[in-house]
Amino acid sequence: MVDTENVTGEGRLLVDGELRPAASGRTYPNVNPAREQVIGEVADAGPEDAEAAVAAARRAFDETDWAADRDLRRHCLTQLWEALDAERETLRPQIVAEAGAPVSLTYAIQQDGCIDDMRWDVECLDRVAWEEDLPVHEFFGIRSLRRVRREPLGVVAAITPWNFPFMLNLSKIVPALAAGNTVVLKAAPDTPWSATHIGRLAAERTDLPPGVLNVLTSADPAAVGEVLTGDPRVDMVSFTGSTAVGKRIMARAADTLKKVFLELGGKSANIVLDDADLPAVLGTGAMVCVHGGQGCAITTRCLLPRSRYDEGVDLLRRAFETWSYGDPTDPANLQGPLINARQRERVLGYIETGVREGAKLLVGGGVPAHLPVGYYVEPTLFVDVDPAATIAREEIFGPVLVVIPYDDEEDAIRIANDSRYGLSGAVHSADLERAYRVATRLRTGTVAVNGGQWFGPDAPFGGYKESGIGREHGIEGFMEYLQTKTIGLPAPVGS
Ligand code: NAD
Repeated sequence: MVDTENVTGEGRLLVDGELRPAASGRTYPNVNPAREQVIGEVADAGPEDAEAAVAAARRAFDETDWAADRDLRRHCLTQLWEALDAERETLRPQIVAEAGAPVSLTYAIQQDGCIDDMRWDVECLDRVAWEEDLPVHEFFGIRSLRRVRREPLGVVAAITPWNFPFMLNLSKIVPALAAGNTVVLKAAPDTPWSATHIGRLAAERTDLPPGVLNVLTSADPAAVGEVLTGDPRVDMVSFTGSTAVGKRIMARAADTLKKVFLELGGKSANIVLDDADLPAVLGTGAMVCVHGGQGCAITTRCLLPRSRYDEGVDLLRRAFETWSYGDPTDPANLQGPLINARQRERVLGYIETGVREGAKLLVGGGVPAHLPVGYYVEPTLFVDVDPAATIAREEIFGPVLVVIPYDDEEDAIRIANDSRYGLSGAVHSADLERAYRVATRLRTGTVAVNGGQWFGPDAPFGGYKESGIGREHGIEGFMEYLQTKTIGLPAPVGS
């Protein structure tokens, strides 16, 4: 168990090296979604704070050595890693309390995993070819040496969601800073501490020059972000969140032609082929409810062959009926509450639509009677779902699995790809080569074959189609935060 009863967190912004309240003096409450209780007040930044943060980041990029001094960057980011590493047990209850994140997840991706992985991004300082010479080349009769340099983009606005807030904050600010950019991080309204804590440690425990990292929290989901995405002093927007907001950001960034890097929603398919070991694959089928299903890459569509449909549905029904969920401080629960009342209404609305459009609701579908406090939704299993139904096409972001029958392998691939999203997927078969072949035909950025996991700091992650543009993690993810300059020099004598 982790104690979220007496948890506190940092309530101040970080602007130009200073931890301070919002210019207006306004604050807003941070709410624990498992208890529906206010756990603290945080600064409610407005457009004037966003302006100040952008000005500071611009100045730090243009007027300090940050962009040029790789040793300084390595030094400061190592300090930040050491500070976060030392504060794991302070952070853990904060993330559980404000995100409703099951504590077990904080020992992995939600906290410890991403603190560990942060070192990989810092080590990219030694992986990138910062300067490379191409062979001597003749153009217009002039023999030249061409030197290709990697340079930071400038000011990066990082905008993040609430589902894996700490991990996504680090996934953006560490590579962006290591690459030599300066950053304005805009946290999701519901999870401010996962950003402000990083801001406090950066200010108090590192030698980061003022303005290199700025952290903003705001009750209004859009007001601060709209300033960042429209400001000509911002060179890049690195965004993780919904596809709808991603489109808005891209449109807004077009005016000043900013680079946009977008990690968006998903509706991923798990294709269970007819020769798969069904009890092994579907016995853990309720894992889609981890963290209340609030994960972009969760496989929320399960595609079962008609030849083994009843057997598969029965296994899933049992998995959903015996799934343990509730209080996120209990390590036995991998599913806690949804983030807020609005999100719960949204998910319940999708469940209603599913029933109205004719899908069969087999398990769950409502608010659990034994959890009257907290924004919980029962683990919910829909079967006999038409691939054209709303619940088969839209991202629900709740603990809801839809089961869709298919005729044969080609039909399964067609249904899986018939989506505006393309983030992830899974394939299961007794024949590894067959599963791999199917995986190569999915139009998604990642695929898990027979339970193999694709995630890691060195593995590029991102979406096809409306699931995003660009890749996070891996050397490809690091390169997103760099641009390329080619310099022509006279060819060396004798070359
Ligand atoms: P959201 O799109 O509503 O908000 C994300 C962030 O954008 C928040 O900080 C929000 O305040 C900000 N924002 C909202 N309107 C804005 C605007 N007009 N301009 C600038 N910023 C604005 O997403 P959410 O509800 O917080 O998170 C859930 C979504 O995130 C899901 O769709 C999920 O799939 C997606 N997600 C994607 C990934 C990925 O890596 N692909 C990872 C996690 C979550």
